Amino acid sequence: MKALQYVEIGQPPQVRDVPTPEPGPGQVRLRVTAAGACHSDSFVMGLDEEQYRANYPLPMTLGHEGAGIVDKLGEGVTEVAIGDSVAVYGPWGCGRCYQCAQGKENYCERAAELGITPPGLGHDGSMAEYMIVDSPRFLVPLGDLDPAENVALTDAGLTPYHAIKGSLPKLVAGSTAVVIGAGGLGHVAVQLLRALTPATVIALDISDAKLELAKEVGAHHAFRSDDSAPEAIRSATGAGTVTAIFDFVGNQATADLGAKLRGVETDQVLVGVGVADVTMGTLGSPYDATVRAPYWGSRPELMDVLALAHSGRVSVETETFSLDDSPEAYHRLHEGTLRGRAVVTP
Ligand code: NAD
Ligand code: ZN
Ligand code: ZN
Repeated sequence: MKALQYVEIGQPPQVRDVPTPEPGPGQVRLRVTAAGACHSDSFVMGLDEEQYRANYPLPMTLGHEGAGIVDKLGEGVTEVAIGDSVAVYGPWGCGRCYQCAQGKENYCERAAELGITPPGLGHDGSMAEYMIVDSPRFLVPLGDLDPAENVALTDAGLTPYHAIKGSLPKLVAGSTAVVIGAGGLGHVAVQLLRALTPATVIALDISDAKLELAKEVGAHHAFRSDDSAPEAIRSATGAGTVTAIFDFVGNQATADLGAKLRGVETDQVLVGVGVADVTMGTLGSPYDATVRAPYWGSRPELMDVLALAHSGRVSVETETFSLDDSPEAYHRLHEGTLRGRAVVTP
């Protein structure tokens, strides 16, 4: 079969012929219908050799957003049937620890120790004609949802949903939510905020095209993400601070910008992969302001997100690519010229 693999450190991924995998006991093989390209893949491919080899194998088939048709069952699997259209829950866990017991396999306490990794982020992922899923527990029915249009909900939908859910009690009428970075995750975050809250939603980005997209999908306001943003927000809302900041960039510049927007009880939520210093303390931050750095989302939250898609409240702007053209999807992601999410349809 064909697969898009990261083969050589620092080089673009390549479409290669690899053996079609066979499902072992308890596993499920999917014929992949769609696979989304996430900025985290670019981050991983940007690591130097030492950092990369400490965490990931080479070659590795990319793709941690996946959807497919159940194609072959490993011994003992009875929970799904051949022909089912499913989405893959990506942050696999052990299934037994306290976090996993609540469906929060994204926060599995034992995954690292047991060597359990998400597909495409530690072992072969979804950018291939077929993929192996370790357990039917990681499959959620797609029903009549189109795989290509909805595959990105498994991460670009689930991650902002989980991030926003933690701040929902604060996002009451009269509140303001800021989304920094209106790309794959951010443009879904805008829709989720509109669907779930009465908050005024403000998007910040450095690209005019992304600011335009944010407004098209429901942002009340969209401003340049620079030093002028706090004043623009003050003019738009009448207040210099906001209720919650969802930062889908997560570098020092956006963390500093978010910190300027904090007021009493503001949540600053760093979702973009990175490290930033944020000043906290009774003398260093407004009272009861919080900073969180959530990761992906839980299995029931993925069901919630797919239910929102079923009811038409959330959709993903997608640009589709064939498997042969999939390196171009990452090139466009890297360039920042995609509208929404790049999705590969093998
Ligand atoms: P993307 O490239 O599709 O979107 C990023 C957006 O940020 C683009 O619109 C870009 O123009 C904008 N941007 C860049 N610099 C900016 C700045 N200084 N201010 C405002 N906007 C800026 O990326 P994506 O796939 O949506 O991923 C977003 C981030 O989330 C990445 O860092 C990714 O690794 C991370 N991520 C985290 C999790 C998690 O669980 N925490 C899950 C998935 C992705
Ligand atoms: Zn991702
Ligand atoms: Zn666990």
